[in-house]
Amino acid sequence: MAESETYLQAKAFAKEHVAPWSKTVDEEGRFATEAFEKIAEAGYLKLIIPTEYGGQGKGVEEHVDVCRAFAEEVGSVGLCYMMHNVFLWEVMGGGRKELIERICKDVVENNAMCALAHSEFPTGIHFYNPTGKAVIDGDDVVVTAHKSMVTSAMAAKYYSVNVPSPLADGVDHMVVELGMEGSTFEMEKWRKAMGMKANVSCPLKLEEVRVPQANRVEETPGTGTDIELNSVVPPFVLGLAAIYTGVMKHLLDETIAHANERTYPSGHNVGQHDLAAFNVAEIYGRQQASLALTYEATRAFAAGEEDAMAKVFACRMISIDDVIDMAKLAMRVGAGAAYAGKGEFARLARDAYGGHIMAPGADMLHLWLGRALLGNDLIVPETDI
Ligand SMILES: Cc1cc2nc3c(=O)[nH]c(=O)nc-3n(C[C@H](O)[C@H](O)[C@H](O)COP(=O)(O)OP(=O)(O)OC[C@H]3O[C@@H](n4cnc5c(N)ncnc54)[C@H](O)[C@@H]3O)c2cc1C
Repeated sequence: MAESETYLQAKAFAKEHVAPWSKTVDEEGRFATEAFEKIAEAGYLKLIIPTEYGGQGKGVEEHVDVCRAFAEEVGSVGLCYMMHNVFLWEVMGGGRKELIERICKDVVENNAMCALAHSEFPTGIHFYNPTGKAVIDGDDVVVTAHKSMVTSAMAAKYYSVNVPSPLADGVDHMVVELGMEGSTFEMEKWRKAMGMKANVSCPLKLEEVRVPQANRVEETPGTGTDIELNSVVPPFVLGLAAIYTGVMKHLLDETIAHANERTYPSGHNVGQHDLAAFNVAEIYGRQQASLALTYEATRAFAAGEEDAMAKVFACRMISIDDVIDMAKLAMRVGAGAAYAGKGEFARLARDAYGGHIMAPGADMLHLWLGRALLGNDLIVPETDI
Protein backbone atom coordinates (compact mmCIF):
# COMPACT_ATOMS: atom_id res chain seq x y z
CA MET A 1 0.00 0.00 0.00
CA ALA A 2 1.38 3.40 -0.93
CA GLU A 3 1.43 5.56 2.18
CA SER A 4 -0.16 9.01 1.98
CA GLU A 5 1.82 12.18 2.60
CA THR A 6 -0.41 12.86 5.64
CA TYR A 7 0.51 9.52 7.20
CA LEU A 8 4.22 9.90 6.49
CA GLN A 9 4.33 13.37 8.00
CA ALA A 10 2.30 12.32 11.05
CA LYS A 11 4.54 9.28 11.51
CA ALA A 12 7.73 11.36 11.45
CA PHE A 13 6.09 13.87 13.80
CA ALA A 14 4.97 11.13 16.21
CA LYS A 15 8.41 9.55 16.32
CA GLU A 16 9.87 12.88 17.36
CA HIS A 17 7.16 14.27 19.64
CA VAL A 18 4.92 11.42 20.83
CA ALA A 19 7.22 8.42 21.24
CA PRO A 20 9.51 10.05 23.83
CA TRP A 21 6.58 10.28 26.30
CA SER A 22 5.42 6.73 25.93
CA LYS A 23 6.90 5.27 29.13
CA THR A 24 6.38 8.35 31.27
CA VAL A 25 2.67 8.79 30.60
CA ASP A 26 2.01 5.08 31.09
CA GLU A 27 3.93 4.88 34.34
CA GLU A 28 2.46 8.11 35.71
CA GLY A 29 -1.04 7.42 34.32
CA ARG A 30 -1.40 10.94 33.09
CA PHE A 31 -2.42 12.88 30.00
CA ALA A 32 0.38 13.33 27.45
CA THR A 33 0.45 17.12 27.89
CA GLU A 34 3.87 17.62 26.27
CA ALA A 35 2.95 15.58 23.20
CA PHE A 36 -0.35 17.45 22.82
CA GLU A 37 1.39 20.82 23.06
CA LYS A 38 3.38 19.80 19.99
CA ILE A 39 0.30 18.26 18.31
CA ALA A 40 -1.48 21.61 18.76
CA GLU A 41 1.54 23.60 17.56
CA ALA A 42 1.77 21.47 14.43
CA GLY A 43 -1.90 22.23 13.62
CA TYR A 44 -3.26 18.68 14.02
CA LEU A 45 -6.13 19.83 16.26
CA LYS A 46 -7.64 21.71 13.32
CA LEU A 47 -7.09 18.93 10.76
CA ILE A 48 -10.76 18.29 10.04
CA ILE A 49 -12.07 21.82 10.65
CA PRO A 50 -13.35 23.27 7.36
CA THR A 51 -11.10 25.86 5.71
CA GLU A 52 -13.88 28.48 5.96
CA TYR A 53 -13.33 28.34 9.75
CA GLY A 54 -9.54 28.44 9.46
CA GLY A 55 -8.97 24.69 9.62
CA GLN A 56 -7.21 22.34 7.23
CA GLY A 57 -10.46 21.04 5.73
CA LYS A 58 -9.35 17.41 5.72
CA GLY A 59 -11.64 14.41 5.96
CA VAL A 60 -11.96 10.94 7.38
CA GLU A 61 -9.02 9.56 5.34
CA GLU A 62 -6.55 11.98 6.92
CA HIS A 63 -8.18 11.40 10.34
CA VAL A 64 -7.43 7.69 9.98
CA ASP A 65 -3.86 8.39 8.81
CA VAL A 66 -3.09 10.59 11.81
CA CYS A 67 -4.82 8.40 14.43
CA ARG A 68 -2.85 5.41 13.13
CA ALA A 69 0.49 7.25 13.07
CA PHE A 70 0.09 8.56 16.63
CA ALA A 71 -1.09 5.19 17.92
CA GLU A 72 1.91 3.42 16.40
CA GLU A 73 3.89 5.27 19.07
CA VAL A 74 1.37 5.65 21.93
CA GLY A 75 -2.14 4.20 21.56
CA SER A 76 -3.71 6.51 24.11
CA VAL A 77 -2.39 9.62 22.35
CA GLY A 78 -4.06 8.34 19.18
CA LEU A 79 -7.24 7.78 21.18
CA CYS A 80 -7.38 11.26 22.75
CA TYR A 81 -6.68 12.77 19.34
CA MET A 82 -9.36 10.65 17.70
CA MET A 83 -12.01 11.71 20.25
CA HIS A 84 -11.18 15.37 19.65
CA ASN A 85 -11.93 15.01 15.93
CA VAL A 86 -15.05 12.95 16.58
CA PHE A 87 -16.42 15.65 18.90
CA LEU A 88 -15.93 18.21 16.12
CA TRP A 89 -17.77 15.98 13.64
CA GLU A 90 -20.60 15.61 16.13
CA VAL A 91 -20.94 19.37 16.60
CA MET A 92 -20.75 20.00 12.86
CA GLY A 93 -23.32 17.23 12.29
CA GLY A 94 -25.69 19.00 14.70
CA GLY A 95 -25.90 21.90 12.29
CA ARG A 96 -25.99 24.87 14.71
CA LYS A 97 -23.93 27.48 12.91
CA GLU A 98 -23.24 29.74 15.88
CA LEU A 99 -21.99 26.86 18.05
CA ILE A 100 -19.93 25.38 15.21
CA GLU A 101 -18.27 28.74 14.53
CA ARG A 102 -17.59 29.41 18.21
CA ILE A 103 -15.96 26.04 18.88
CA CYS A 104 -14.01 25.88 15.61
CA LYS A 105 -12.66 29.39 16.30
CA ASP A 106 -11.53 28.34 19.78
CA VAL A 107 -9.78 25.26 18.39
CA VAL A 108 -8.11 27.20 15.58
CA GLU A 109 -7.06 30.20 17.66
CA ASN A 110 -6.51 28.70 21.11
CA ASN A 111 -5.98 24.98 20.49
CA ALA A 112 -9.00 24.08 22.63
CA MET A 113 -9.26 20.31 23.00
CA CYS A 114 -12.53 18.42 22.84
CA ALA A 115 -13.89 15.10 24.13
CA LEU A 116 -17.01 12.95 24.42
CA ALA A 117 -18.81 12.11 27.65
CA HIS A 118 -21.46 9.66 26.51
CA SER A 119 -21.16 6.38 28.44
CA GLU A 120 -22.88 6.29 31.82
CA PHE A 121 -22.69 4.06 34.83
CA PRO A 122 -26.38 2.99 34.65
CA THR A 123 -26.61 2.12 30.93
CA GLY A 124 -22.95 1.23 30.24
CA ILE A 125 -22.42 -0.14 26.75
CA HIS A 126 -25.84 1.21 25.65
CA PHE A 127 -24.38 4.71 25.42
CA TYR A 128 -27.16 5.93 23.12
CA ASN A 129 -29.60 5.51 26.01
CA PRO A 130 -28.68 8.24 28.54
CA THR A 131 -30.46 8.31 31.88
CA GLY A 132 -29.34 11.74 33.09
CA LYS A 133 -31.74 14.59 33.63
CA ALA A 134 -31.97 17.79 31.59
CA VAL A 135 -34.44 20.50 32.52
CA ILE A 136 -34.99 23.86 30.81
CA ASP A 137 -34.60 26.88 33.10
CA GLY A 138 -34.62 30.20 31.29
CA ASP A 139 -31.73 30.33 28.82
CA ASP A 140 -30.08 27.29 30.37
CA VAL A 141 -30.48 23.55 30.45
CA VAL A 142 -29.83 22.20 33.94
CA VAL A 143 -27.98 18.89 33.52
CA THR A 144 -27.57 16.12 36.08
CA ALA A 145 -25.73 12.98 34.95
CA HIS A 146 -22.93 10.61 35.92
CA LYS A 147 -20.71 9.78 32.96
CA SER A 148 -18.45 6.80 33.46
CA MET A 149 -15.32 7.30 31.34
CA VAL A 150 -14.36 10.55 29.67
CA THR A 151 -11.28 10.61 27.44
CA SER A 152 -8.90 13.57 27.95
CA ALA A 153 -10.65 14.35 31.22
CA MET A 154 -9.59 17.75 32.56
CA ALA A 155 -7.29 18.28 29.56
CA ALA A 156 -10.13 19.02 27.15
CA LYS A 157 -12.07 22.28 27.29
CA TYR A 158 -15.29 21.00 25.65
CA TYR A 159 -17.21 17.78 26.47
CA SER A 160 -20.23 16.57 24.56
CA VAL A 161 -22.71 15.14 27.08
CA ASN A 162 -25.75 13.21 25.83
CA VAL A 163 -28.98 13.61 27.79
CA PRO A 164 -32.68 12.83 27.34
CA SER A 165 -33.93 15.89 25.43
CA PRO A 166 -35.98 18.27 27.60
CA LEU A 167 -37.71 19.55 24.46
CA ALA A 168 -38.62 16.47 22.45
CA ASP A 169 -38.67 12.68 22.48
CA GLY A 170 -35.10 11.51 21.95
CA VAL A 171 -31.58 12.57 22.86
CA ASP A 172 -29.73 15.90 22.86
CA HIS A 173 -26.00 16.56 23.21
CA MET A 174 -25.01 19.47 25.42
CA VAL A 175 -21.51 20.94 25.27
CA VAL A 176 -20.29 21.16 28.85
CA GLU A 177 -17.23 23.36 29.33
CA LEU A 178 -14.34 22.63 31.69
CA GLY A 179 -14.91 24.25 35.07
CA MET A 180 -18.67 24.71 34.81
CA GLU A 181 -20.13 24.87 38.30
CA GLY A 182 -21.43 21.52 39.51
CA SER A 183 -19.10 19.41 37.34
CA THR A 184 -16.49 17.17 38.97
CA PHE A 185 -13.97 14.82 37.38
CA GLU A 186 -13.33 11.78 39.59
CA MET A 187 -9.73 11.29 38.49
CA GLU A 188 -8.80 9.02 41.41
CA LYS A 189 -11.10 6.38 39.85
CA TRP A 190 -8.86 6.22 36.75
CA ARG A 191 -5.65 5.52 38.65
CA LYS A 192 -6.10 1.73 38.58
CA ALA A 193 -7.03 1.57 34.89
CA MET A 194 -5.47 -1.40 33.13
CA GLY A 195 -4.21 0.29 29.97
CA MET A 196 -4.46 3.29 27.65
CA LYS A 197 -3.25 5.20 30.70
CA ALA A 198 -2.67 8.55 29.01
CA ASN A 199 -6.29 8.52 28.00
CA VAL A 200 -7.24 9.49 31.59
CA SER A 201 -10.84 8.38 31.00
CA CYS A 202 -12.24 9.11 34.42
CA PRO A 203 -15.89 9.60 35.48
CA LEU A 204 -17.54 13.01 35.20
CA LYS A 205 -20.24 13.90 37.70
CA LEU A 206 -22.64 16.64 36.67
CA GLU A 207 -24.85 17.95 39.47
CA GLU A 208 -27.37 20.52 38.27
CA VAL A 209 -24.87 22.06 35.89
CA ARG A 210 -26.30 25.09 34.08
CA VAL A 211 -25.42 24.72 30.41
CA PRO A 212 -26.56 27.51 28.07
CA GLN A 213 -29.19 26.33 25.58
CA ALA A 214 -26.86 27.78 22.96
CA ASN A 215 -24.55 24.83 23.73
CA ARG A 216 -27.06 22.26 22.47
CA VAL A 217 -25.51 20.46 19.49
CA GLU A 218 -28.71 19.62 17.61
CA GLU A 219 -30.54 22.14 15.47
CA THR A 220 -33.64 19.97 15.96
CA PRO A 221 -34.02 18.83 19.58
CA GLY A 222 -34.31 15.08 20.10
CA THR A 223 -32.32 14.07 17.00
CA GLY A 224 -29.13 13.20 18.91
CA THR A 225 -29.21 9.47 18.14
CA ASP A 226 -29.30 10.13 14.39
CA ILE A 227 -26.41 12.58 14.70
CA GLU A 228 -24.54 9.97 16.73
CA LEU A 229 -25.07 7.22 14.17
CA ASN A 230 -24.29 9.39 11.14
CA SER A 231 -21.60 11.80 12.36
CA VAL A 232 -19.98 10.10 15.35
CA VAL A 233 -20.05 6.34 14.82
CA PRO A 234 -18.21 6.15 11.45
CA PRO A 235 -15.13 8.29 12.31
CA PHE A 236 -15.07 6.83 15.83
CA VAL A 237 -15.15 3.21 14.67
CA LEU A 238 -12.67 3.84 11.83
CA GLY A 239 -10.44 5.78 14.22
CA LEU A 240 -10.40 2.87 16.66
CA ALA A 241 -9.56 0.43 13.88
CA ALA A 242 -6.67 2.69 12.85
CA ILE A 243 -5.49 2.98 16.44
CA TYR A 244 -5.44 -0.77 17.07
CA THR A 245 -3.81 -1.40 13.69
CA GLY A 246 -1.16 1.05 14.90
CA VAL A 247 -0.79 -0.77 18.22
CA MET A 248 -0.27 -4.01 16.26
CA LYS A 249 2.50 -2.36 14.23
CA HIS A 250 4.26 -1.39 17.45
CA LEU A 251 3.88 -4.97 18.72
CA LEU A 252 5.45 -6.23 15.50
CA ASP A 253 8.43 -3.85 15.73
CA GLU A 254 8.97 -4.67 19.39
CA THR A 255 8.83 -8.42 18.69
CA ILE A 256 11.28 -8.31 15.78
CA ALA A 257 13.73 -6.14 17.71
CA HIS A 258 13.68 -8.46 20.72
CA ALA A 259 13.95 -11.64 18.64
CA ASN A 260 17.08 -10.31 16.97
CA GLU A 261 18.62 -9.03 20.19
CA ARG A 262 18.09 -11.96 22.56
CA THR A 263 21.09 -14.23 22.02
CA TYR A 264 21.85 -17.70 23.48
CA PRO A 265 25.35 -18.92 24.46
CA SER A 266 25.50 -20.79 21.12
CA GLY A 267 25.44 -17.43 19.38
CA HIS A 268 21.96 -18.01 17.97
CA ASN A 269 19.26 -15.48 18.69
CA VAL A 270 15.56 -16.09 19.35
CA GLY A 271 14.71 -14.87 15.85
CA GLN A 272 16.65 -17.76 14.36
CA HIS A 273 14.26 -20.24 15.92
CA ASP A 274 11.34 -21.25 13.75
CA LEU A 275 8.63 -20.59 16.28
CA ALA A 276 9.70 -16.98 16.64
CA ALA A 277 9.69 -16.67 12.85
CA PHE A 278 6.22 -18.24 12.79
CA ASN A 279 4.88 -15.77 15.36
CA VAL A 280 6.47 -12.76 13.67
CA ALA A 281 4.90 -13.84 10.37
CA GLU A 282 1.49 -14.17 12.04
CA ILE A 283 1.68 -10.71 13.64
CA TYR A 284 2.80 -9.16 10.36
CA GLY A 285 0.04 -10.87 8.36
CA ARG A 286 -2.75 -9.92 10.74
CA GLN A 287 -1.48 -6.35 11.03
CA GLN A 288 -1.43 -6.02 7.26
CA ALA A 289 -4.95 -7.49 6.97
CA SER A 290 -6.23 -5.05 9.56
CA LEU A 291 -4.48 -2.16 7.81
CA ALA A 292 -5.88 -3.10 4.41
CA LEU A 293 -9.45 -3.47 5.67
CA THR A 294 -9.27 -0.23 7.67
CA TYR A 295 -8.21 1.71 4.59
CA GLU A 296 -10.74 -0.05 2.37
CA ALA A 297 -13.52 0.78 4.85
CA THR A 298 -12.31 4.37 5.04
CA ARG A 299 -12.24 4.66 1.27
CA ALA A 300 -15.71 3.14 0.95
CA PHE A 301 -17.10 5.45 3.61
CA ALA A 302 -15.52 8.57 2.08
CA ALA A 303 -16.91 7.54 -1.32
CA GLY A 304 -20.39 7.07 0.19
CA GLU A 305 -20.63 3.48 -1.01
CA GLU A 306 -23.66 1.47 -0.03
CA ASP A 307 -21.85 -1.26 1.89
CA ALA A 308 -19.46 1.13 3.61
CA MET A 309 -20.87 0.77 7.13
CA ALA A 310 -20.53 -3.01 7.05
CA LYS A 311 -16.84 -2.56 6.19
CA VAL A 312 -16.48 0.10 8.89
CA PHE A 313 -17.78 -2.26 11.59
CA ALA A 314 -15.77 -5.18 10.18
CA CYS A 315 -12.44 -3.37 10.27
CA ARG A 316 -12.81 -2.43 13.92
CA MET A 317 -13.97 -5.98 14.73
CA ILE A 318 -10.86 -7.43 13.10
CA SER A 319 -8.41 -4.94 14.58
CA ILE A 320 -9.65 -5.16 18.18
CA ASP A 321 -9.76 -8.95 18.15
CA ASP A 322 -6.43 -9.36 16.41
CA VAL A 323 -4.54 -6.90 18.57
CA ILE A 324 -5.24 -9.00 21.66
CA ASP A 325 -4.22 -12.22 19.88
CA MET A 326 -1.08 -10.57 18.52
CA ALA A 327 -0.15 -9.23 21.96
CA LYS A 328 -0.27 -12.85 23.13
CA LEU A 329 2.11 -13.95 20.36
CA ALA A 330 4.42 -11.00 21.00
CA MET A 331 4.57 -11.94 24.68
CA ARG A 332 5.55 -15.51 23.69
CA VAL A 333 8.54 -14.21 21.75
CA GLY A 334 9.37 -11.54 24.32
CA ALA A 335 8.91 -14.16 27.06
CA GLY A 336 10.67 -13.51 30.38
CA ALA A 337 12.17 -10.21 29.30
CA ALA A 338 8.79 -8.89 28.17
CA TYR A 339 7.09 -10.16 31.31
CA ALA A 340 9.73 -8.51 33.47
CA GLY A 341 9.09 -5.17 31.80
CA LYS A 342 11.50 -4.96 28.88
CA GLY A 343 10.55 -2.39 26.27
CA GLU A 344 6.86 -1.80 25.70
CA PHE A 345 5.45 -5.34 25.49
CA ALA A 346 3.46 -5.06 28.72
CA ARG A 347 2.00 -1.63 27.95
CA LEU A 348 0.96 -2.74 24.47
CA ALA A 349 -0.70 -5.88 25.83
CA ARG A 350 -2.60 -3.83 28.42
CA ASP A 351 -3.56 -1.17 25.88
CA ALA A 352 -4.87 -3.89 23.56
CA TYR A 353 -7.78 -4.70 25.88
CA GLY A 354 -9.28 -1.20 25.69
CA GLY A 355 -10.45 -1.87 22.14
CA HIS A 356 -12.94 -4.51 23.23
CA ILE A 357 -14.49 -2.31 25.87
CA MET A 358 -15.09 0.99 24.17
CA ALA A 359 -18.70 1.42 23.14
CA PRO A 360 -20.36 -0.23 21.39
CA GLY A 361 -17.95 -2.95 22.60
CA ALA A 362 -16.78 -6.07 20.80
CA ASP A 363 -20.01 -8.03 21.24
CA MET A 364 -22.38 -5.22 20.26
CA LEU A 365 -20.16 -4.49 17.28
CA HIS A 366 -20.66 -8.06 16.06
CA LEU A 367 -24.41 -7.67 16.59
CA TRP A 368 -24.49 -4.35 14.74
CA LEU A 369 -22.59 -5.79 11.81
CA GLY A 370 -24.84 -8.84 11.70
CA ARG A 371 -27.96 -6.67 11.89
CA ALA A 372 -26.64 -4.37 9.13
CA LEU A 373 -25.88 -7.34 6.87
CA LEU A 374 -29.34 -8.76 7.51
CA GLY A 375 -30.96 -5.42 6.76
CA ASN A 376 -32.25 -4.91 10.30
CA ASP A 377 -32.14 -1.81 12.54
CA LEU A 378 -28.80 -1.45 14.35
CA ILE A 379 -30.34 -0.38 17.61
CA VAL A 380 -33.29 -2.41 18.82
CA PRO A 381 -35.36 -1.55 21.91
CA GLU A 382 -33.71 -3.18 24.92
CA THR A 383 -36.05 -4.68 27.45
CA ASP A 384 -33.33 -5.52 29.93
CA ILE A 385 -31.79 -2.08 30.58
C1 LIG B 1 -9.84 3.31 27.12
C2 LIG B 1 -11.28 3.68 27.20
C3 LIG B 1 -11.68 4.97 26.84
C4 LIG B 1 -13.01 5.34 26.90
N1 LIG B 1 -13.37 6.61 26.55
C5 LIG B 1 -14.66 6.98 26.60
C6 LIG B 1 -15.06 8.31 26.23
O1 LIG B 1 -14.22 9.13 25.87
N2 LIG B 1 -16.36 8.65 26.30
C7 LIG B 1 -17.31 7.78 26.68
O2 LIG B 1 -18.48 8.13 26.68
N3 LIG B 1 -16.98 6.51 27.07
C8 LIG B 1 -15.69 6.11 27.02
N4 LIG B 1 -15.31 4.84 27.41
C9 LIG B 1 -16.31 4.04 28.06
C10 LIG B 1 -16.77 2.87 27.30
O3 LIG B 1 -17.49 3.26 26.18
C11 LIG B 1 -17.54 2.08 28.34
O4 LIG B 1 -16.56 1.35 29.00
C12 LIG B 1 -18.58 1.26 27.74
O5 LIG B 1 -19.69 2.06 27.58
C13 LIG B 1 -18.80 -0.01 28.51
O6 LIG B 1 -19.61 0.21 29.66
P1 LIG B 1 -19.79 -0.91 30.78
O7 LIG B 1 -18.47 -1.36 31.25
O8 LIG B 1 -20.76 -0.39 31.79
O9 LIG B 1 -20.42 -2.13 29.97
P2 LIG B 1 -21.71 -2.98 30.30
O10 LIG B 1 -22.95 -2.24 29.90
O11 LIG B 1 -21.62 -3.49 31.70
O12 LIG B 1 -21.57 -4.19 29.27
C14 LIG B 1 -20.68 -5.27 29.54
C15 LIG B 1 -20.77 -6.30 28.45
O13 LIG B 1 -22.08 -6.89 28.43
C16 LIG B 1 -22.38 -7.32 27.12
N5 LIG B 1 -23.69 -6.76 26.71
C17 LIG B 1 -24.50 -5.94 27.43
N6 LIG B 1 -25.62 -5.70 26.78
C18 LIG B 1 -25.56 -6.34 25.60
C19 LIG B 1 -26.43 -6.47 24.48
N7 LIG B 1 -27.63 -5.90 24.44
N8 LIG B 1 -26.01 -7.22 23.45
C20 LIG B 1 -24.81 -7.82 23.46
N9 LIG B 1 -23.94 -7.74 24.49
C21 LIG B 1 -24.31 -7.02 25.54
C22 LIG B 1 -21.24 -6.89 26.24
O14 LIG B 1 -20.34 -7.96 26.12
C23 LIG B 1 -20.58 -5.78 27.03
O15 LIG B 1 -19.24 -5.61 26.66
C24 LIG B 1 -13.98 4.41 27.35
C25 LIG B 1 -13.59 3.11 27.71
C26 LIG B 1 -12.25 2.76 27.63
C27 LIG B 1 -11.86 1.37 28.02
